[in-house]
Amino acid sequence: MVAENLQYLRENLANTCVRIGRDPQSVDLIAVSKTFPAERIEEALAAGLTDFGENYVQEMAEKRKQLDGRGIRWHCIGHLQSNKVKYIIDWVHLIHSVDSIALAEEVQKRSLKAGKRTDVLIEVNTSREATKFGVAPADAEELVRRVRAMPDIRVRGLMTIGPFTDDRGRSREAFRTLRTLFDGMNARTEEPMTVLSMGMTHDYTVALEEGATMLRIGTALFGPRSAA
Ligand SMILES: *Cc1c(COP(=O)(O)O)cnc(C)c1O
Repeated sequence: MVAENLQYLRENLANTCVRIGRDPQSVDLIAVSKTFPAERIEEALAAGLTDFGENYVQEMAEKRKQLDGRGIRWHCIGHLQSNKVKYIIDWVHLIHSVDSIALAEEVQKRSLKAGKRTDVLIEVNTSREATKFGVAPADAEELVRRVRAMPDIRVRGLMTIGPFTDDRGRSREAFRTLRTLFDGMNARTEEPMTVLSMGMTHDYTVALEEGATMLRIGTALFGPRSAA
C-alpha cells in the first residue's frame, strides 16, 4: 500500500521535475506519519523512506522508541512548545517550526546542554491565516538574523504551510512569498540557507514549481487520516 503510493508519488515528482527543468534528486521527501502506527512506518521504511515528520512531541517520542535502531531521521513539523524541546533535543534531525525568539532560545539552551548543534528551519506564515503559526513575512529576516547568532543552532532554511485551498493561485502566492524571502536573505549572507520546506499532498506540485527542496507528504503516502 505505502510502496504503491510511494511509486506513484515518485513518478509524479519526477514528471514535474522534468517539466520544470529540476533534478528530482534535489527534492527531499519527508513522510508525514502523524496518527499512523509504527507498523505503517515499517512499511514505509521497507519501501525506502528514511525521513519521517510528526506534529506532536509525545507521539513522535513513542514511535521513536518503538522503531529504535531503524536509522529513522525524525522531523518535528508541528507547532513546538518550549517546554517540550527537552524531550526531543538529543535525537531530532530537523525542527521545521521555530517561529519565535523564545522557542529558539530554549533550543539553544538545550542544545548547549546536550553538547550538540541543532538544525532548524524558521516557520513563516505566508498565507496570513490567523489560525496558523509562523513568524510574519515582514519579521522573518530579523528572526533568522537573531537565531543565526545562537552558537548551537544552525538555520538551514525556511518552512511554510500553504493555505488550505485547491486554488493554485493562492498556493503559488504563499510559496512565492517564502521563496522571495529565502532568495533575499541568501543574497545578504555568506552562509546561504539551503532548505525550503513547503508543499503537502494537495499543493506539492505548485511548491516544486516555486522551488521547494523539501516536501512534507502524509495523505498521498499513508492514505487519509481519520478525523481525531
Ligand atoms: C499534516 C501535515 C503535513 C502533511 O499533510 P498531507 O496533506 O497529509 O500531505 C505536512 N506539513 C504539516 C506541517 C502537517 O501538519
